[in-house]
Amino acid sequence: PVVDTLRLTAEEAAGLLARGELSARELRNAYLDAIGERNGELHCFLRTVEDAEGDGVPIALKDVISTKGVETTAGSKILAGYVPVFDATVASRVKAAGLSLLGKTNTDEFAMGSSTENSAYGPSRNPWNPTRVPGGSGGGSAAAVTAGLAPWALGSDTGGSIKQPSALCGNVGLRPTYGSVSRYGVVAFASSLDQIGPVAKTVRDVALLYSIIAGSDPCDSTTAELPDAPRLPEGDSLAGVRIGVPTELNEAEGIEPGVREAVSRALSLAEELGAELDECSLPRSVRYGLPCYYLIAPAEASSNLARYDGVRYGPRSEGASYQELVDRTRDEGFGDEPKRRIMLGTYALSAGYYEAFYGQAQKVRTLIIQEHREALERFDVLACPTSPTVAFPIGERAADPLAMYASDLLTIPSCLAGLPGLSIPCGL
Ligand code: GLN
Repeated sequence: PVVDTLRLTAEEAAGLLARGELSARELRNAYLDAIGERNGELHCFLRTVEDAEGDGVPIALKDVISTKGVETTAGSKILAGYVPVFDATVASRVKAAGLSLLGKTNTDEFAMGSSTENSAYGPSRNPWNPTRVPGGSGGGSAAAVTAGLAPWALGSDTGGSIKQPSALCGNVGLRPTYGSVSRYGVVAFASSLDQIGPVAKTVRDVALLYSIIAGSDPCDSTTAELPDAPRLPEGDSLAGVRIGVPTELNEAEGIEPGVREAVSRALSLAEELGAELDECSLPRSVRYGLPCYYLIAPAEASSNLARYDGVRYGPRSEGASYQELVDRTRDEGFGDEPKRRIMLGTYALSAGYYEAFYGQAQKVRTLIIQEHREALERFDVLACPTSPTVAFPIGERAADPLAMYASDLLTIPSCLAGLPGLSIPCGL
């Protein structure tokens, strides 16, 4: 092979192209070959694109991102065969930067899940151990980057779907600040939480890709211009960086001893590199984060998913009346997890329960925002494990929604607070 895609970073790949040591075609073919070799086993890509424009580094996009002329299903049967007539803003930005689309990566249906087992098209597998999950919902993107099937990828993160798969596959994943990246053309799950962000092998690659996709977009009124342009990290020094270590997020029940050890080793290393460490407290985040998220996210999902009616997108079931057509399409098109969330969300929003559930969750969310704000007056960053456990076996949590939801215990609080989150590897 011309390049070792398992090791090559996107930055190195760009260097090879810039110096003329490799053509864009050769680089792209190296990835398509790697996909040909391993995708059958790992199932990272739902589909690949044979001929794509762009003379830069190739990229993979999670299948919740609309791509003009390329089927986009969000991992759901209800969108099977849906071919967008336009690109999501993030897709057009990566294309404008010259990146060529390799294909669309697997996801839990509508990004609802933590393992990709909720994909209507079958699970992805963890490249380190194919009997285990790659995390989710963006397990396809994370596994593709780890296995060298793509140098970098975009995912979406509502409650952890970029960070948790990155942790379970051992790469770097960034959920950007809410509002810093456009969601125009992205299949919506929970609109007050969804963000698009990069997955790659290194922090520098992630920063590079982030700088390509970030910035305001007239097509997404929730975006804002960033006060500072993203900077690429230089060198190893962490001198002057104040790291807060929230006790509750580092000592939560369910964190495996091995995970705890790896994180505390990483924190000691940060201290050796010059960071100042101190403990802090986020008392409500662990206690109320999950219940708060699992009211707000399903409530918003129940509203967002109302648009899949068999009329506008995807397959249509037969029915004697309009209502029957819609009912059958939704019954046959949605899998169990979206149905569960639509029911939970509709219930939480219904008259008589709205204040007790959705309204209460919004108030708790405000308290979670406040406690993060207070902590960040003292610290530049807060550190904790991304996932309480390492990659779990396929099937282990599939039948137990609450066990699956608990995978996001530590990633959800910062999402509720609208903050960015970065997962970096710290142990194998
Ligand atoms: N696992 C969480 C959920 O199922 C988060 C998913 C996500 O971030 N898209 O909702």
